[in-house]
Amino acid sequence: MTGEAKPMTVEREARIKIAVQKSGRLTDNSLGLLRRCGLNYSRAADQLICFGENMPVDVLLVRDDDIPSLIAEGVCQLGLVGLNVLLEKSVEGAGLMTARRVGDVEFGRCRLSLAVPRGMSYLGPTDLAGRRIATSYPRILSRWLAEQGIEADIVTLSGAVEIAPKLGRADLICDLVSTGSTLSANGLEEVEVILESHVVLVSGDTPVDAESAELVQRLISRIDGVVRVQEAKYIMLHAPRSALDEIKALLPGSEAPTVMPLDGIDDKVAIHAVCQENVFWETLEGLKRAGASSVLVLPVEKMLA
Ligand code: ATP
Ligand code: ZN
Repeated sequence: MTGEAKPMTVEREARIKIAVQKSGRLTDNSLGLLRRCGLNYSRAADQLICFGENMPVDVLLVRDDDIPSLIAEGVCQLGLVGLNVLLEKSVEGAGLMTARRVGDVEFGRCRLSLAVPRGMSYLGPTDLAGRRIATSYPRILSRWLAEQGIEADIVTLSGAVEIAPKLGRADLICDLVSTGSTLSANGLEEVEVILESHVVLVSGDTPVDAESAELVQRLISRIDGVVRVQEAKYIMLHAPRSALDEIKALLPGSEAPTVMPLDGIDDKVAIHAVCQENVFWETLEGLKRAGASSVLVLPVEKMLA
């Protein structure tokens, strides 16, 4: 044996973690969104962490309630969670380490609403004075009550909120609603929406190295691109030059359409535009009435701002 063993330098590749609900209403859509961002990973049943195979991004599968604090503590750099949970759990007063919303995603739509037993009169927030309200969202509710200048008793429950009035534990409830069928099955009526919620992309303030920060930004912009692309359509049409302004005004959510000459036809132009909103048949019919012809609507597969 000659010489000394050389010290091995192990280059550690930066990796980031994104927190996603392990099992619940948000799970399938969240994992689907990450796959559409180009992230491949394998997932075994009951696994808590999935290692990204083609990107240095790992997916941590947790209870949704834990996502804001995992981000605030710097365990994960990004997360997908309901706005309702973010606002209820966001770590106020914890110095620099907070979880903040950096994007919106369209799934997980629901509302946090007040619901009263059928037959109880509710004409407005003043009817709540002195009432007992059962909820799993005491912080959001108390903030809302304070804004209304109302004092009421908040009964904090971690589950089965909708049966609290029947059990005599509260006069009314404040709970998440999407279709309203759970409420009506429990003899309750939705009377006031206090928060419209949907899934938000959350990131933290904990300092990370430059390489990880770049990865975080890259994933944020990919998620943003996937979300925007879902509604986006690429429209191509021919329009009389005289109707150009009218037709541009009819294109939903498009910024600056491209206008091109048509070979050999002087009084018409071709217009291409990316429309960010849904393009309905009514829109197309409106374009046709304004003089458009050869209208084509194509899906957009990828978009990077
Ligand atoms: P976990 O075990 O992760 O804590 P959970 O029981 O808190 O699960 P789910 O019922 O799966 O959570 O709901 C997760 C999120 O889905 C809610 O916080 C909310 O943002 C959203 N959501 C959408 N529609 C509804 C609904 N009708 N009821 C409850 N949550 C809804
Ligand atoms: Zn939860």
